[in-house]
Amino acid sequence: MSSDPTRMCELLVGLPDVNVLEVTETDDALRVKIETRGDRPTCRDCGGLVKVKDRDEVEYADLPCFGRRSVLVWRKIRWACVAGCGARSFTETAAAIAAPRQRLTDRAGRWATVQVGRRGRPVSDVAGELGAGWDAVMDAVAGYGQVLIDDPDRFTDVEAIGLDETLRCKTGRWKTQQWSTQIVDVGAGQLLDVAEGRNAAGPCEWFAEQPPQWRDGIRWAALDLSGPYRKVFDTMLPVAQQVADPFHVTKLAGTRLDECRRRVQNETMGHRGRKDDPLYRCRRLLTKADERLDERGRTRLLGLLDAGDPRGEVKTMWHAKEVVRSIYSHRDPVLALEFVTRLGHDLQDEDHPVEAHQLGRTLLRWRHQICAWHASGVTNGPTEAINNLIKRVKRVAFGIVNHRNYRIRALLYAGKPNWDLLPTIEPR
Ligand SMILES: [Zn+2]
Repeated sequence: MSSDPTRMCELLVGLPDVNVLEVTETDDALRVKIETRGDRPTCRDCGGLVKVKDRDEVEYADLPCFGRRSVLVWRKIRWACVAGCGARSFTETAAAIAAPRQRLTDRAGRWATVQVGRRGRPVSDVAGELGAGWDAVMDAVAGYGQVLIDDPDRFTDVEAIGLDETLRCKTGRWKTQQWSTQIVDVGAGQLLDVAEGRNAAGPCEWFAEQPPQWRDGIRWAALDLSGPYRKVFDTMLPVAQQVADPFHVTKLAGTRLDECRRRVQNETMGHRGRKDDPLYRCRRLLTKADERLDERGRTRLLGLLDAGDPRGEVKTMWHAKEVVRSIYSHRDPVLALEFVTRLGHDLQDEDHPVEAHQLGRTLLRWRHQICAWHASGVTNGPTEAINNLIKRVKRVAFGIVNHRNYRIRALLYAGKPNWDLLPTIEPR
């Protein structure tokens, strides 16, 4: 170990081939000024000698050091041709210190990419820790992250693919909703990509960019009960069997029940639910799965329905929701199809409320996709994994206005990039 203090300082700075010129301390940061001591380059045009024309000090946010933020001040040399061949002067570069166009040092940029991309931390937190601007951190995450998500080996063959919409943010005075479509490997629980919007165009374009043999390998295509995604699969994956996601099917029954409860509430009381109204008081009990209601809860629910639901419409929808859930206790695809078909017709009985009619029509329209679940052997496992995945992505993503930034962050977080590549890639 050297006893030369300058050499010690260079070791602490941990960068190759630099001279530490000065270390200063301010109230909240350590400033380390360096210059390179690499070989002198040659003129880019004539290949002749160059001379130092100027020096510019450029500041980079670096990794915190000894519990303090740290700023690397790089005294960059501006070189000019000795022969004066007409070549423009140029500033030195050293990717090991900082990549071109980045405002974080290389090591801080890679660290920020892990914090934001892999751990899902907010950009503002990481920026605060580094003493850098929000844009500087996001530029680093995008620069390094883009290479990781574009890695051609990030995903290979997919047997079951799924599309799901996500509300990305609400913008502007009218809180305009911005939507995205997640393209997911249902089996692996991996986010493959994110398309803008929730119509057919984005996902169609994405599928068109994939190799035909890759598309041909997809056997199952999972979707919510949305027309646009059905169109995507009809046109881009005509051979794949479409499967309606059980989560969305049972969720739809819950939504119709809720609509019915609100309507009956309004019609019987003449106002929206208040805390003493029986239908308002039972709203949570209604959403509970029947087997999770104990005897007391059940009695309470029936009592509240007796008081607030004179024509028994909410009760009908409550039963309907439970029957829709029971679709998934069937094991045999043929029996399941019979069951769903009969249920779809029964729900349209003229004695039933309008919400039951709607639910019945939807079930009939989607009955083959609903019962493909029983044939696909797609168990609840992957569905759960996907729902968790989507929740995670939403948590990371919500409020991100810019689609490109959202795509990078969502894919770094849930797209299973190969993080082993991070130390060796060159940022874009
Ligand atoms: Zn020259």
